[in-house]
Amino acid sequence: MKKETICIQGGWQPGNGEPRVLPIYQSTTFKYSSSEDMGKLFALEASGYFYTRLQNPTNDVVAQKICDLEGGVAAMLTASGQAANYYAVFNICEAGDHIVMSSTVYGGTFNLITVTMKKMGISCTVVDPEASFEELCEAFQENTKCVMAETIANPAMVVIDIEKFAKAAHEHHVPLIIDNTFATPVNCSPFQWGADIVTHSTTKYMDGHAMSLGGAIVDSGNFDFGKYPDKFPGLCTPDDTYHGVVYTEKFGKGAYITKATVQLMRDLGSAQSPQNAFLLNVGLETLHLRMERHCANAQAVAEYLEQHDKVAWVNYPGLPSNRYYALAQKYMPRGTCGVISFGLKSGREGAEEMMEHLKLAAIVTHVADARTCVLHPASHTHRQMNEEQLKEAGVAPEMIRLSVGIEHIDDIIADLEQALS
Ligand code: PLP
Repeated sequence: MKKETICIQGGWQPGNGEPRVLPIYQSTTFKYSSSEDMGKLFALEASGYFYTRLQNPTNDVVAQKICDLEGGVAAMLTASGQAANYYAVFNICEAGDHIVMSSTVYGGTFNLITVTMKKMGISCTVVDPEASFEELCEAFQENTKCVMAETIANPAMVVIDIEKFAKAAHEHHVPLIIDNTFATPVNCSPFQWGADIVTHSTTKYMDGHAMSLGGAIVDSGNFDFGKYPDKFPGLCTPDDTYHGVVYTEKFGKGAYITKATVQLMRDLGSAQSPQNAFLLNVGLETLHLRMERHCANAQAVAEYLEQHDKVAWVNYPGLPSNRYYALAQKYMPRGTCGVISFGLKSGREGAEEMMEHLKLAAIVTHVADARTCVLHPASHTHRQMNEEQLKEAGVAPEMIRLSVGIEHIDDIIADLEQALS
């Protein structure tokens, strides 16, 4: 099926006499008639539900829809995008391991990996997303276990060359993890270009209404972890907590997601609530329509800003003048996303003043919402970064991040016009 159809009809497939709409299985636990039946679930000898921290039918159906949209083999939901990125990396990295990461990833991911995971003994080399293939290869070490990047970086709007990153990762026998939050699977299919694992903050366009936090991890099934048992012992050697199960042997292409579910979710517990998964599914049903409007509106706003005499620069990959236009055309021919970053000639002070005059666009710590919203990354999402890190992340002090919503374009531009005046 086409992505538009999967958005609406994917996931929940009701049987005869079952509800047309995905039910919310608002239950922490599931009933069995024998102790043995339940025991088999704990031993991973049978599949089934027993406790919502590990799996829940509502969540699984929504994960399946996201899996189908990305073209993967298995997927899981998490409580937030942060949890998704954490699990995606921690599932294959442990103390003593190393990650290669693009410098322009979202501030929360940067913090998670370079500060929090560092305390767990996992080191990281931050690379320029525009580094040449050879420069990229220099960042790898013996203990490198994955490469991490974002399709379109939040908020630098850098479009990553997925094929270049995938080639470097694969030459060093590690998977490429791509955070596809901004593009969504409607606009970009990272697996088609060599990415192995995709993550999402479903809090953004997928939910689309600023209602529920959530995350997702999807495995393409293409990276053969079993080929490198010394690199990925967690997947390729017996897990004593499940009586010696070897994930790659028992679950094949499902090994990575199975391990993240039965081990990380069991022990760390960042499960999405079934209620949130239900809301996420409602959001997914219109994702294709909303993305089309977000992109059309953002394109019009970017063109308007580009010709405005108070605007110093505009960064939107849909503009032919943009540095990433060619990459965006290659990887996202249908459009990129609704987020634009721009700077005013009046600098940081001017940016803050202009934002306070906006009426329709609200100042919120959010992005990728149906409602137009703005944020000042240097004061908000990237506040923890020093000058040098801000520069590496592509965050200028005067940068305004504008998330263009799906209201009427005339009203969005009129709001910007009066605030700029
Ligand atoms: N990844 C990206 C690209 C994001 O923009 C965000 C949040 O803004 C996250 C991950 C973290 O997601 P969440 O806020 O759902 O934890």
